[in-house]
Amino acid sequence: LIQLYIPLNFLGIVYREIRQALTDIERMFNLLKENQEIADAADARDLPAGPLQINFDAVHFAYEANRQILKNLSFAIPPGKTVAVVGHSGAGKSTLARLLYRFYDVTGGAIRINGHDLRSLRQSSLRAAIGIVPQDTVLFNDTIFYNINYGRPDASREEVVAAARAAQLHEFIESLPLKYETKVGERGLKLSGGEKQRVAIARALLKNPPILIFDEATSALDSATERAIQSQLEQVAVGHTTLVIAHRLSTVMNADEILVMSDGHIIERGTHPELLAAGGHYATMWMLQQQEEDLSVPST
Ligand code: ADP
Ligand code: MG
Repeated sequence: LIQLYIPLNFLGIVYREIRQALTDIERMFNLLKENQEIADAADARDLPAGPLQINFDAVHFAYEANRQILKNLSFAIPPGKTVAVVGHSGAGKSTLARLLYRFYDVTGGAIRINGHDLRSLRQSSLRAAIGIVPQDTVLFNDTIFYNINYGRPDASREEVVAAARAAQLHEFIESLPLKYETKVGERGLKLSGGEKQRVAIARALLKNPPILIFDEATSALDSATERAIQSQLEQVAVGHTTLVIAHRLSTVMNADEILVMSDGHIIERGTHPELLAAGGHYATMWMLQQQEEDLSVPST
């Protein structure tokens, strides 16, 4: 039996290694494919320095030819302001973030920054101006230091640690045997969803770009940690043009405008008090979430 077991076990290890390598290759090809689909125009220009205004002008988008995801969507984020997007899963919220980062091009209308169509901008310039905390963070197979530092490779060690502190991650890192030198990712220490989110937040805080996108950036955190980070994020968003996609409505009540999305449309928009007063979908969602929070208050 042992004779049989050892080779099988060995094969298991080999299989895992191969599968891992394939995943990495697949990811690389996906990146290459994305870069091929979206190339710089011959006369592409860089974004200007200074405050940036974002406009979605009658945007249409479809991943596949016969299934419209975004339908005639218009909104603006003035320089330094925060617009929040809420709505049920599948409504098209993350698609907004992907289009703004230009993983895909719109199929109708335009997205503009300070009046420049994204398609007329140099991609490196666009991506340098945006910090994104995506819904699912993939970490590099490298140290936790590298993973945060990636946000701004010329940052000092003190700045990396400050970003980790702001993301409520420093104490956790210090509790690891190798601290900031701990290898993370698929071949290192597996971090929880909430820990990965905090690495992505630290990375974005370190980068400190003029535009911030948070896509359900705190959805995997417990509510105490979420509250602690939330105030940091609101501080950081001051003076930054910010798009927040939110799960818990309590995290967006201070936004300058809240868009309620359903099935690729904006069905309601306004500030938190305006939307509550309107007594529509947002007001109902708010009431339901308040009840949930009351129910989940621990009894101790
Ligand atoms: P939300 O973030 O609001 O949950 P998404 O923007 O992720 O919604 O997705 C909107 C719709 O687009 C969903 O119906 C989803 O299935 C579809 N979708 C998302 N990504 C892709 C993709 N890469 N290819 C095809 N359809 C997609
Ligand atoms: Mg989403």
